[in-house]
Amino acid sequence: MENQVIMEQAAAGEDENAQRFRELVEKAPLGIVLTDIDHNILYVNQRFVELSGYDMAEVPNIDAWWRLACPSEDYRLQSMKLWQRNVQMSHQSGRDINPFERRIACRDQSARVIEFRYMPMGTHGVTIVTDITDRKRLEEELTVMATSDPLTGAMNRRKFMEVMNYEFERYRRYGRDFSILMLDIDHFKKVNDIYGHQGGDEVLKALTRMCRDALRNCDHVCRLGGEEFALILPETGREGAIDVAERVRLGLGTTPVQTPEASICYTVSIGVSWAEIGDDAIDKILKRADAALYDAKREGRNRVCVK
Ligand code: GH3
Ligand code: MG
Ligand code: MG
Repeated sequence: MENQVIMEQAAAGEDENAQRFRELVEKAPLGIVLTDIDHNILYVNQRFVELSGYDMAEVPNIDAWWRLACPSEDYRLQSMKLWQRNVQMSHQSGRDINPFERRIACRDQSARVIEFRYMPMGTHGVTIVTDITDRKRLEEELTVMATSDPLTGAMNRRKFMEVMNYEFERYRRYGRDFSILMLDIDHFKKVNDIYGHQGGDEVLKALTRMCRDALRNCDHVCRLGGEEFALILPETGREGAIDVAERVRLGLGTTPVQTPEASICYTVSIGVSWAEIGDDAIDKILKRADAALYDAKREGRNRVCVK
């Protein structure tokens, strides 16, 4: 009799433990999916369903889930290949896969960035999915903050040097041309004096916009500080760079910046240089561009000089 009570208590305790365990798995802040060797889904927890909005009834296997989560065929095939390769590797090695990220479409039409992990469990496997949408957004914001100028959105000096290093390496290794245009607004102090600091800021923003519009997508607009900018033109040699510089100078000088209070006319001086034989350091190219800009100022401003 006594024994039976103990047994019943133990069974009740086990039930309770199993229930607690189930609750833990259901409510853990991670999506959990159990699949068999053929990728059939045997179990998904509540969090996984909440994350994408697709439930077990409509998703019998992982392939069906990918079809819903990645409506674009190219991206889906790429994702599935990545997934399958990783799963195969993890079963071969008996180890977890390196986490990978994918952008998925949810039932409510929202897009989320999901991190996938997979752990082999005999012939089965457990996939853990984490919603990293907010983290990714924050990372992107931090990257923008670290690489761009807040007023104009142009690249900052730090990013400028990064791009210069990249282009210089390409030039040295593969002989790929690149040029730089050092640009400085003429008498910008006067612009501020006449139109106020805010008027000056509008000019800086408009200049950045116009340079972007005038250049190719792969060119770079950088604000090095104050009213000094640098334009990096990959795959562009001497002649091309001089053409672009003239076009930019003329465009900016003939397009007044409209503010609610005024129409602000201004001009720029530009120094042009390019990578050439004997350039064993970035500094040499930058020094020539600076010297050319200095010449343009000295010779009367609103002009392009070359070194
Ligand atoms: P120059 O033709 O010789 O280049 O003359 P300049 O007046 O353009 O050059 P200077 O270097 O004497 O003056 C630059 C001015 O740019 C002074 C500074 O107040 C202004 N400036 C620097 N940064 C900003 C900014 O973020 N906003 C505004 N509105 N003005 C700025
Ligand atoms: Mg100036
Ligand atoms: Mg200046």
